[in-house]
Amino acid sequence: MAKIFCVANQKGGVGKTTTTVNLAAGLAQVGQRVLMVDLDPQGNATMSSGIDKRELFLSIYDVLLESASISEARVRSQWTDDKRGAATYDVVGANRDLAGAEVELVDVERREARLKAALAAVDAEYDFILIDCPPSLSMLTLNGLCSAHGVVVPMQCEYFALEGLTDLVNTIKQVHANLNKELKIIALLRVMFDPRITLQMQVSDQLKAHFGNKVFDTVIPRNVRLAEAPSYGLPGVVFDASAKGSQAYVDFARELVQRAPTL
Ligand code: ATP
Ligand code: MG
Repeated sequence: MAKIFCVANQKGGVGKTTTTVNLAAGLAQVGQRVLMVDLDPQGNATMSSGIDKRELFLSIYDVLLESASISEARVRSQWTDDKRGAATYDVVGANRDLAGAEVELVDVERREARLKAALAAVDAEYDFILIDCPPSLSMLTLNGLCSAHGVVVPMQCEYFALEGLTDLVNTIKQVHANLNKELKIIALLRVMFDPRITLQMQVSDQLKAHFGNKVFDTVIPRNVRLAEAPSYGLPGVVFDASAKGSQAYVDFARELVQRAPTL
């Protein structure tokens, strides 16, 4: 049985996709069998895994519309020749087609449970399934939350971060109460962190005071190599394994493997 985590935060540009692809690559590197699902019409997680979103034969859109299974739609992450030795993971990609799914499924009963049903068929083939959510609390994100055991919430330690977190935590509570009893865990991951900035340290302390051990020990620093990697179609962990940010994501992968059974 795979542990299923969705990476969500309704705020845009907080590091969801960077976290999803680097966690996928980090988990693969430490020997885990990983499936990554791109649930964002922007398709950034797809592109960052070396797969051209414009050339997808089947995507998560087809899965949500039940015209394809996960086994049919998945492809393997694809690295440039010089990175061929790096561990890979499976990907169900996304592109702009997915933006239409919300409208097309509007009259469908239990449309928020489509992804969960599709994942059940491949659950036994993986140790971890990671879902990259779009920056909204839409039907797509709801599909992610309904499928998962846990939510990884990447956040920047800024003044308004805590406010946004309240909305997300309330949504998670509602999903838990009404749609998915298995959704229990939240993992708060501090990203783009700069300890020299006093405000970031203060917000980080507030987070720990309020959320306790839900805040992961691993902290992801601000690191330009993580930002450069997507333009090569690679996760940072594969692009430059020695970069501080890449090492931090591998540490996070290890922490998640270690904590997953007790979470
Ligand atoms: P969206 O809400 O649009 O889906 P997102 O939450 O998925 O965005 P990302 O795309 O992962 O966010 O990151 C936003 C930008 O910040 C990207 O340009 C990414 O390369 C950069 N970035 C993410 N994490 C880091 C980091 N630790 N250090 C430096 N840059 C980072
Ligand atoms: Mg994203």
